[in-house]
Amino acid sequence: MKLICPVCREELKREGRAARCSNGHSYDYAKSGYLNLYLSHKTVHGDDADMVKARTAFLNTGAYAFLRSELRSIFEAHGSTSLVDLGCGEGYYTSYMPQSDRAAFDLARKALMHAAKNDPDTQYCVSSIFHVPLADACTDSVLTCFAPVASEEIERILKPGGIFVLVTPGPDHLFEFKSVLYDTPYRNPMKDIDTALTLTDDRMIREAFTADKAVLSDLFTMTPYVWHTPQENKKRLDSLETLSVTAEFRIRIYRKETAAA
Ligand SMILES: [Zn+2]
Repeated sequence: MKLICPVCREELKREGRAARCSNGHSYDYAKSGYLNLYLSHKTVHGDDADMVKARTAFLNTGAYAFLRSELRSIFEAHGSTSLVDLGCGEGYYTSYMPQSDRAAFDLARKALMHAAKNDPDTQYCVSSIFHVPLADACTDSVLTCFAPVASEEIERILKPGGIFVLVTPGPDHLFEFKSVLYDTPYRNPMKDIDTALTLTDDRMIREAFTADKAVLSDLFTMTPYVWHTPQENKKRLDSLETLSVTAEFRIRIYRKETAAA
């Protein structure tokens, strides 16, 4: 997959530690290997070192490995050879996917540093997922896992016949965990997305995992609950030795139709 310049949309070519377009715009590769295509230095929510560390430790327990396997089999069944991951974070899912040509985008630099070090076979880029530096119809699959849906960009970069796989939390995702933190825990709402692609599959997968103290602490640090939990409820969590928690994911598969006959 060829990256394009986010300013003038000409093709980017690698020259040493930089990627340049024919109009002289230049972008740097970080030491870890990701490419910085985003010029602002604003801090991104969810990208502090503690959150990245907690998410990595949590994912390494294997609690979400069943989701990763499910995604891999979906792409294998489709036979796609290229993948664009929009909102890839630490690359836990990206790195495990079967496509040989992979590009992944996120604004979280610390997460990308981790991703690029562990997975040199994917080109990780700091970029908005709403302005993807890729040419039209350049990939036969797109993944968005726990990230906002950039519908227009996904429709633009997919080849006809290509698929978009969307992962969102199921209604019961982490429900037992939320029940400890909140007096009235809510189930995740199921929302439709606005897209011109055709929905071809909509499934729910779930598995329970047992979280010990360390895992509960990582889970707390990596989720938005860290911002909204009253101190006394946090104490309830700290008093637990283990907790059985449901991981539930909704997986939707969309297809870009080939031009109507
Ligand atoms: Zn340019």
